[in-house]
Amino acid sequence: MAITTDLSGKTAVITGSNSGIGLGIARELAKAGAHVVLNSFTDRKEDHALAAEIASVCGVKARYIKADMSKGDDCRALIEEAGACDILVNNAGIQHVAGIDKFPVDKWDAIIAINLSSAFHTTAAALPLMRDAGWGRVINIASAHGLTASPYKSAYVAAKHGIVGLTKVTALECAGQQITANAICPGYVLTPLVEAQIPDQMKTHDMDRDTVVREVMLARQPSKEFATVEQLGGTAVFLCSDAAAQITGTTISVDGGWTAL
Ligand code: NAD
Repeated sequence: MAITTDLSGKTAVITGSNSGIGLGIARELAKAGAHVVLNSFTDRKEDHALAAEIASVCGVKARYIKADMSKGDDCRALIEEAGACDILVNNAGIQHVAGIDKFPVDKWDAIIAINLSSAFHTTAAALPLMRDAGWGRVINIASAHGLTASPYKSAYVAAKHGIVGLTKVTALECAGQQITANAICPGYVLTPLVEAQIPDQMKTHDMDRDTVVREVMLARQPSKEFATVEQLGGTAVFLCSDAAAQITGTTISVDGGWTAL
């Protein structure tokens, strides 16, 4: 069998994809030929413009669907409105940092809902479509924090460990059905949000850009380099390729060696 990464004719739904990693993954999947459905909880001109830009650059169908991933009904409605879902990328995520005894309950609930429960709902809605199509890929964006922990990130670490578990169960329930489920575990990725934190960190630590990036932000990332959204997108394309047809129920770290420590 020829090994291909051509995703022509497939439809990919990427949650939380109007910025950062989700948008990077959507762009790479579209470059590989997939039609893409972008999503977030807003409904701005810019959101729809992103889809139009991807459609015109990549020659695929692209649209933006508003759905709030903190709400189970919205998660399921997203897949229903998409109509097809050969590739599901569960990427939407938020973060909050505080000690367990001070962790706001509403933040805990929101992180578990958006970073974990949303993937349960979208997967539940997408699997029947994948089974009908006889092919599918579930790609969950976990984190190095799906495999290891840091203090003050209880909800995030719990949700990311949880999504690694959900990935394994999804893989087992779909084994032998040409449907795989895997989790990508990024370390620190250079997204606009991370980029925006650099000036503040330089001020706080009285360091130049290179030093603050190397010694503060990438303290746990042995490569001392950020991963990029393009690399995450390329990893997602690989997981959709024929080469990855027998890779299922596992994690792929894109973390510059973080979890090897
Ligand atoms: P980001 O803030 O740029 O992207 C998060 C996306 O989720 C945005 O599109 C946002 O609109 C969307 N989102 C947030 N709440 C939502 C909701 N209620 N409904 C729908 N969409 C919602 O951040 P990012 O860094 O690109 O993060 C993307 C994913 O990658 C997250 O799951 C994050 O945990 C994970 N991750 C990021 C890094 C990193 O260093 N940036 C590292 C490891 C894992």
